[in-house]
Amino acid sequence: MPDNRMHIALFGPPGAGKSTQSKFLLRRWPIVSLSTGKMLREESAAGSELGLKVRDLLGRGELVDDETMIATIRKWLENLPADKGFLLDGFPRTIPQAIALDEMLEELGRPLNGVVNLKLSVSEAVYRLGGRRICYGVGPEEIIHINDEDAVNRCLARGGLLVQRSDDLPNVIVKRLNVHEAETEPLLNYYRPRNIVHSVEASGSQEEVAQRIVEGFEPKASHTPKQ
Ligand code: AMP
Repeated sequence: MPDNRMHIALFGPPGAGKSTQSKFLLRRWPIVSLSTGKMLREESAAGSELGLKVRDLLGRGELVDDETMIATIRKWLENLPADKGFLLDGFPRTIPQAIALDEMLEELGRPLNGVVNLKLSVSEAVYRLGGRRICYGVGPEEIIHINDEDAVNRCLARGGLLVQRSDDLPNVIVKRLNVHEAETEPLLNYYRPRNIVHSVEASGSQEEVAQRIVEGFEPKASHTPKQ
């Protein structure tokens, strides 16, 4: 029987909209997802052992060590439902993480069959991250841009609080973009020979970007993925 489960890793520089796109894809496909960044921020806020260990690194825009990240993913993969695919948002981010992931997925017999590469210019990433605020209030948290007056007013009207991530401050933004370029971009060359990389322009509306991603996986008969 053919295995139609989607096993996807979502790549892109900070600000490319990985988490936003994850939410769209979760509604569209039978998958579960893990955002390693979100998980680490939650651990940090909760003050857990892991959270305390990573808090300073997150604030500086540096990567958490491979050993910790690989152990975390291993645990998550152990509880993966058999009847669903998965989407990894923010993992792997280094070559050692990618190698370890391959080994773990091979053991599970569930290799990656898609790598989505969200492409965004540095100037747009800086604009997005610099203005990014999280609206915390009643209901689910919402990511908005400080220049989006309607979104800001909607947030305040529902009693929401606009919060800036500590790693969205200017010097940390630069650091994160540099780390992405040095550590994570080389991963595309690691995956390219497998012909599973779908590169997608991440500028435009959230819906437009989601549509581009979906087209890469639900192609018309003649479509071959763009590398
Ligand atoms: P993100 O929300 O994906 O931008 O991640 C926020 C922060 O979490 C990063 O700047 C890193 O400090 C940390 N982080 C997330 N995923 C990883 C990973 N796979 N390896 C190392 N650090 C990570």
